[in-house]
Amino acid sequence: MTAPALSGAALADQIARRRTFAIISHPDAGKTTLTEKLLLYGGAIHQAGSVKARKAQKHATSDWMALEQERGISVTSSVLQFEYHGFQVNLLDTPGHADFGEDTFRTLVAADSVVMLLDNRKGVEERTRQLFDVCRRRRMPIFTVVNKCDRVGEDPLKLVSDVEAELGIIAVAAHWPIHMSDAVHGTMFRGVYDRRNKRAFLFERDEKHGADKVATTSIALDGPNDPKLLEALGNTDEALQAVEKLAHDIELLDMAGHEFDPAAIASGEMTPVYFASALTNFGVEPFLEDFLPLAPAPVGRDSNAGRIEPSGEAFTGFVFKVQANMDPRHRDRVAFLRVCSGRYAAGLEVTHVRTGKTFKLAPPQQFLGRERAFAEQALPGDVVGVHDRGSLRIGDTLAAAGAPRAEGGKLLEYVGIPRFAPQHFARILSKDPLRRKALDKGLRELSDEGAAQAFFAESMMGPVPIVGAVGMLQFDVMVHRLENEYGAPCTLEMMPYRFPRWVTGPEAAIRRLGEAQDLTLLRDSKENFVLVFRDEWRLRWATDKAGEQGLVFHTEAP
Ligand code: GDP
Repeated sequence: MTAPALSGAALADQIARRRTFAIISHPDAGKTTLTEKLLLYGGAIHQAGSVKARKAQKHATSDWMALEQERGISVTSSVLQFEYHGFQVNLLDTPGHADFGEDTFRTLVAADSVVMLLDNRKGVEERTRQLFDVCRRRRMPIFTVVNKCDRVGEDPLKLVSDVEAELGIIAVAAHWPIHMSDAVHGTMFRGVYDRRNKRAFLFERDEKHGADKVATTSIALDGPNDPKLLEALGNTDEALQAVEKLAHDIELLDMAGHEFDPAAIASGEMTPVYFASALTNFGVEPFLEDFLPLAPAPVGRDSNAGRIEPSGEAFTGFVFKVQANMDPRHRDRVAFLRVCSGRYAAGLEVTHVRTGKTFKLAPPQQFLGRERAFAEQALPGDVVGVHDRGSLRIGDTLAAAGAPRAEGGKLLEYVGIPRFAPQHFARILSKDPLRRKALDKGLRELSDEGAAQAFFAESMMGPVPIVGAVGMLQFDVMVHRLENEYGAPCTLEMMPYRFPRWVTGPEAAIRRLGEAQDLTLLRDSKENFVLVFRDEWRLRWATDKAGEQGLVFHTEAP
């Protein structure tokens, strides 16, 4: 059953209402909690629960996998799709490990904007900065949410100026928190003030601890000094203090702050700042309502045949993530594809551009919050899971016959999906010699998936497996998965290498270079030669020698 093709105008409408974004944050800022609350507001779940148990599961490879186990909902995926007030939201999961991996960076490539979540006591942290840099380079629109406003944190004025000073982006407070003290609860997060629309959102405290949506009153005002606000807050001394503080802050922001500029937000030069408490849901809805209209609809993507607009008629998309064993019962392997143009529909014949092979698309598998569902079609901005037996790799392009062609007549390929050279290496020691085959298989599959890179050193006893990773935690995940998913228990022995270089040229010359100066020559899982260096001194020496012998060094697999 194929969905009828949409007319041009209907298709444009469908694309225009899509919002594909990811949340970036330092661990513990509240990403899991916020994700859950977005699902709650998006109607994908009906009651939110505590995410505390998740913390016990240090090794979960996807935060959502743990979320699924706790909540009994099937969100094992890299994307959650839900509707919110006419918008079709695609929320991409980025792994929450303490150590960032390549996976996160690649996922950002599939997003059109990001939400940068900060802890109100910590502001910009290490990982926030790393992820921010990637988004910045891609000129992605970035929306900042200061979380945990239910408890006393840094002065909001300081938080906003820290974002500017530490990240070098113009920060503009879109909303401002209204805090009010009370004899029983101490300082309370009572609401947010929307500066552009001159509106206050006041939250009703309930005993549900954030399990349900929070009752919110919205009041149109002439400004923070409007008596209606004081009245709504109860007309007490505390209310007066809260209003005075708000009016004072807003005056400062009006005088010293930047003007809200949607064009600067769209180009990633300005970030609007919001205040919320994911735990109690306070501010989540006002944020969503402001954010979704401002966030970009799917944008054009660069390929070797030029920029491809989402309105392009022929289907194209690229793989940004591959995940093996999503369902431990049947070892499936899913490639996550971002649709860039045209329409993904079951039965459509597409070309896997790297190999030139053609195949028919299966029904698109989408993740509609509650369960994996087979939707009829997917449109630009959507992410679909494609079942695959191992031919699709990260960065691969799929395109239908009518898609634009690059020079030479070959179908287009998308560019700019980042690959990162590993910076840490470890030898893998099998604890069970009988499971050696399973170990090799696991290493190759997890390597294809981008979980870490597998290499092999030659030895008299046969190839010795070595794993390269960008972050140390990738090693833990790998060891854990090798044991649990492939039944191949192993331990790691760290190696002192820091710089890998893929080498091409005559094999004899490569081997000669490998033997000189105590260098180490490895093969990657595709049999390419890789030299690994301990220090820049050795790397420089070998780079000179390589040139003399007609060899070429590459920072990634050729
Ligand atoms: P993640 O590591 O970024 O996914 O963070 P989590 O969502 O797991 O949250 C980390 C901790 O912060 C948990 O103990 C949460 O309960 C807590 N937390 C999350 N959001 C809030 C919030 O709005 N207020 C407070 N007080 N705590 C929060």
